[in-house]
Amino acid sequence: MTEHLMNTYARLPVAFVRGEGAWLWDEAGKRYLDALSGVAVCGLGHAHPAVAQAVCQQAQTLIHTSNIYRMPMQERLAADLCQLSGLDQVFFCNSGAEANEAAIKLARLYGHEVRQVAEPKILVFDGSFHGRTLATLSATGNRKIQQGFEPLVSGFVRSPYNDLAAVEALARANPDIVAVLVEPVQGEGGVRLPSAGFLPGLRELCDRHGWLLMLDEVQTGMGRTGQFFGFQHYAGLRPDVMTLAKGLGNGVPIGALLARVEVARLFVPGKHGSTFGGGQLAIAAAQAVLDTMRAEQLPARAERTGASLRHKLRQRLAGILDVKEIRGQGLMLGIELGRPAASIVQRALDRGVLINVTAERVIRLLPPLIFTEEQADLLVETLGTLLEEGL
Ligand code: PMP
Repeated sequence: MTEHLMNTYARLPVAFVRGEGAWLWDEAGKRYLDALSGVAVCGLGHAHPAVAQAVCQQAQTLIHTSNIYRMPMQERLAADLCQLSGLDQVFFCNSGAEANEAAIKLARLYGHEVRQVAEPKILVFDGSFHGRTLATLSATGNRKIQQGFEPLVSGFVRSPYNDLAAVEALARANPDIVAVLVEPVQGEGGVRLPSAGFLPGLRELCDRHGWLLMLDEVQTGMGRTGQFFGFQHYAGLRPDVMTLAKGLGNGVPIGALLARVEVARLFVPGKHGSTFGGGQLAIAAAQAVLDTMRAEQLPARAERTGASLRHKLRQRLAGILDVKEIRGQGLMLGIELGRPAASIVQRALDRGVLINVTAERVIRLLPPLIFTEEQADLLVETLGTLLEEGL
């Protein structure tokens, strides 16, 4: 029956019908431990009662009106996100790519209206991932994602990741740069962490050159790295613009663009919009997510469980030749292998554990933030057995 679905995904041969916390069940009733959370989406776990209740209640009350009317629910969630992030204003949309599209548009407005640049450019990085719409795939630092879609959207200048000297050289050669778009930890690029000085160094360069620091926190945001937002690992660092999606709705589609007011004010009526963005149903879900994360201090829990998971992995996988490095921040973990490892995803699935491989040789673990120590033990033991068997 797959002949009527476009062939955009290499799907694994399993279909899930039910979930609870970190567990999923397939059609045959087999149980799986989810160490991927729909790729960093379901931070609260599956079928979380607070989210389910908020969505049900909202669906019975009002699913959607329109952004041509006042939206008090958006106002409340925006105030909470601003209070948590130190940013000032929010635009709601439906996905990570859409949030980054909005950020790119905002940066271009800033370039034209504030910096008075005729053709403003945005600095982006090798290995980055920002989405699959035309502008965001053009910003993305992965040729495979761009191939076949030329002509790409122009106006991006690319630098190696984690290399401030390269950024400075590009700044000298490109006076039209007005913004930097960067992931605090590269997710799709292989769970690549920057050195401690990289983001603060970028902030300094942004201040010196009048660039906007725009953080793509689509994957790192909402507690994933052990803070609400990835930039909060750096004392005193504040971005000018930040994008969120994935974990914000725990599976209900919602994205957000946040900015300092001096930048946000460039979006005046007519400049940007979305039919579904910030609809009541999605906002109700996201408000429940945020309230639960705050009440249960899930970012701090992710920090603790993540540290313990890394420690357990280092102990269990020590001495396995194919394992080159175990790294991560909070519950965003990567196990870098010596060679490509695509088959391990299917072998883990056979054993009832959901993982992912990215950048060909990095096993990526993104468990729900509610992951327990027992679940971490089961994950570590399964990975140990699989890697001992070989790739
Ligand atoms: N930015 C980052 C950092 C991401 O990881 C992703 C999704 N993997 C996106 C943007 C795109 O998000 P979406 O799929 O919701 O468009």
